[in-house]
Amino acid sequence: CLFLFTAQTFFLRLRFGHQQSVRVNEDLEAVVYTLNRPVAGTRNIAGSLQEPLPQTGKTGSSVFPQAIQTTGVGVRGIKEGDMRMSLRMNRNSAGGTDKWPKTRSGPNRGLVRIPYKISRQYNRTQLAVIRSAIPTFTRHTCLRFVPRRTEVAFIYISNGKGCWADVGKTGHPSQTVSLGIPGCVIKGIVLHEFMHVAGFQHEHSRSDRNRYVKIYRQHVQPDMVANFDRYNDSVNYVVYDYNSVMHYSKNAFSKEIYLPTVQVIPKRKPEPIIGQRERLSPYDIEEVKYLYDCGAGTYQRCGRDFFNLATGSFNSPSYPSPYPAEAHCTWNITVQPGRFVNVTFKGIDISDSPVCQNDVILIHDGKNAAAPTMRTICGTQTGDISIVSTGRSMFIIFSSDPTRDSNRGFRAIFRESNEPKLT
Ligand SMILES: [Zn+2]
Repeated sequence: CLFLFTAQTFFLRLRFGHQQSVRVNEDLEAVVYTLNRPVAGTRNIAGSLQEPLPQTGKTGSSVFPQAIQTTGVGVRGIKEGDMRMSLRMNRNSAGGTDKWPKTRSGPNRGLVRIPYKISRQYNRTQLAVIRSAIPTFTRHTCLRFVPRRTEVAFIYISNGKGCWADVGKTGHPSQTVSLGIPGCVIKGIVLHEFMHVAGFQHEHSRSDRNRYVKIYRQHVQPDMVANFDRYNDSVNYVVYDYNSVMHYSKNAFSKEIYLPTVQVIPKRKPEPIIGQRERLSPYDIEEVKYLYDCGAGTYQRCGRDFFNLATGSFNSPSYPSPYPAEAHCTWNITVQPGRFVNVTFKGIDISDSPVCQNDVILIHDGKNAAAPTMRTICGTQTGDISIVSTGRSMFIIFSSDPTRDSNRGFRAIFRESNEPKLT
């Protein structure tokens, strides 16, 4: 892509020695590549991020040359106003200026359309892989990736150097999503880049990440260090999510494959898995819904909100028949002020995995997925499991991965309780 090569010659390497977050050594070393050229017409702050490629399996570095990983441009901040602006990119664009716009009227009311154009460089199989990332957004969120017709703003998906994307809506007439052939043409990477397009930064760049991961900057390839920066002002709509498709893996951009660059803390067994590129995690889906305030009818709703009911029940989809693959259901149970939510699962049968990274029930002590996680449940449990909230709300997610299983799911009852404990 001509633009890319031209733009790269304008990159100016800058080192910022004093950021706000003086408590964190690694942030003092933040290296930012800034486009040293005013961009006509842009009013938004955006950046794009070079991705590490999967290190194992058929998409490993033997297929895709290692050199590709080291020739990226790091974070590309588009300069507007002062230089700090490019440092202040939010994890997502809660301010609204670089979110994609919501359709206000007509048959598409409430939907957020993101027009895309795909380069002719891809063959039919590759096109199918790229397009396979779209339905999960359509089913579970109000985002609609639609073929570009005459829209002025759209994303252009092309065979660039490596995998990267502009974050949020940039304000350029067309903005780039680079999916290099063949290493980047993988559904999970496309999902990851589309999350950048929607406005999300990497999970490990969240303001609160130092409580969940340790970054070994000394192990990171020098020109990739910016991909490990932390953003002080990120807006965190959900709890920290190791399972996010936006989280880097343990040895992402490592100088040597055996040197970790991202370590889960505190160390524990089984250790949370980071760097999955299979699907949107339950929290990835939830944060898209929060950021875009997806309304009723803009996605396939599974689950229900219960408000001020003294008792009720709910179950996994199709129960007692097996639940479908890629289910995403949420229940918000809010009882009267001063009361508490007591939920009892009458046995659970969902597919098991070491850290419940596949199919899972997530229980939050509050009204949404930003509230603390009380329980993470998977596998088979024959007896009753009861949980009580510490406030008047409980938020429950049931999520299944793309693999269809024969597990039957669960049924649960809830009741209003006078005590914030089991009685
Ligand atoms: Zn990324």
